[in-house]
Amino acid sequence: MDLAIVNAWILTLAKNRLGIIKNGAIGIEGDKISFIGDTEDLDTNETDVIIDGKSHIVMPGLVNSHIHTSLTLLRGGAQDLPEIEWMNKGIGPLAKHLDSEDLILGSKLGVLEAVKTGTTTFSEYTSNVDRLVEQVYLPLGARVVATETINEVAQVNRAALKPSDLYEFDKEKGQQALTKNDQLFEKYKNKSLVTCMYGPQALDMVSLDTLKAIKEKAVSRNSKIHMHVAQGERERLQITGRFGKSASTVKVLADHDLLDDYLVAVHCHDTEKQERELMVSKEVKMVGCPSSISIIDGIIPPIYHYFSLGGKVGIGTDQAPGPGNHNLFREMRTISLLTKTQFRDPTAFPSWQMLFLTTIFGAEILGIEKEIGTLEIGKKADIITFDMNNLFLTPMVSNPFHNFVPNLVHSATGTEVDNVIINGKLIIHNRNFTTIDEQKIINEANKRAERIFTNASEDWKAAGSQMVKDVEKGLL
Ligand SMILES: [Zn+2]
Repeated sequence: MDLAIVNAWILTLAKNRLGIIKNGAIGIEGDKISFIGDTEDLDTNETDVIIDGKSHIVMPGLVNSHIHTSLTLLRGGAQDLPEIEWMNKGIGPLAKHLDSEDLILGSKLGVLEAVKTGTTTFSEYTSNVDRLVEQVYLPLGARVVATETINEVAQVNRAALKPSDLYEFDKEKGQQALTKNDQLFEKYKNKSLVTCMYGPQALDMVSLDTLKAIKEKAVSRNSKIHMHVAQGERERLQITGRFGKSASTVKVLADHDLLDDYLVAVHCHDTEKQERELMVSKEVKMVGCPSSISIIDGIIPPIYHYFSLGGKVGIGTDQAPGPGNHNLFREMRTISLLTKTQFRDPTAFPSWQMLFLTTIFGAEILGIEKEIGTLEIGKKADIITFDMNNLFLTPMVSNPFHNFVPNLVHSATGTEVDNVIINGKLIIHNRNFTTIDEQKIINEANKRAERIFTNASEDWKAAGSQMVKDVEKGLL
């Protein structure tokens, strides 16, 4: 055996149960789990690395179902702004000053902080996603579902357009992105850490023709279409402008045979009850990003409603500017609190359910549930260990119930994760990365961010957002 964890509390999350094993052990051979059971029953002679799991929870690695890591150098760059200002006056003037190396370094920073808080699978969504796969994910050893952004909006000065002015499309641009997206499938067909999806950005940003071509390809590859759906006012104005006053994103997708189990729909907050019911009946999967949408739009994503209708839901963190970070333990608590408050129902989204949303449900959304998402013999070894021996998680009792279940969601910070195994490899051991120098990344991130924010200073001030006024008042 290559690796074993012994003497731990194990949460398998298999077969829709927590699957708690007391004094449990896990054995790993190659990239797979080869043993799960009592520590007494595992022969650890001739095991290369043995981790003592005393006072530890061992559970499946977390799945981030929607993430754009490359903007992480702009963390804290656009907060507490009106939604309409967030892009054009907040993040836009800063993002203009990012070069392609800043995007890579930002991605490294985002992926590192996420792995450090227990994420092992990333549904990464960006242009030139293969650069991140090659320079960030594979060198670190993290699992990625690579999605190439397909955006057909012509390169015009969007800041000069009124929200109701319809975008012009550039078919050539869309075709190039689609070709790139297609090539990913060939490039990574033999890489066990990488799977791929198609990424039309949103219905307002691609033409129907291109969307139909994407659908055909997704069907022929048995892949999925990962798309932002019904993101709010700006999208609605474009959709009603193009398809008529009574049109909506969901209606248009339904009319054109694009609403089915190939679709992974992100956000969905500008949808009506009947539209969600239709989506669930068509087996559309949904991803919600609780911190991102509440902080940028002031809206609680309809994750709980979709789930209550019987739909499959997963959780993502979107980008760091806005929500702040890519820590899924924080997202579990955030959506649980928001939902309880929204419905005035403290029983909504109990702790145990949050653990499923960020593991096996995420794996199902991404179509890799046979490989990851639970701890079962034969599955890929994507495993985290969680140190319970600290002030926040003490006491830990197991009779008459396991108090660590709510404590994992409502008391943990995520930084208690001390070992992370991905595809059978120990990526974090005793809180230290084995494949990458964390401090070097932090130092370089600070250096680059200082340059970016300094260079952007005039543009940012000229944009005149609420944040500029806050600086003048000495509040920021
Ligand atoms: Zn997004």
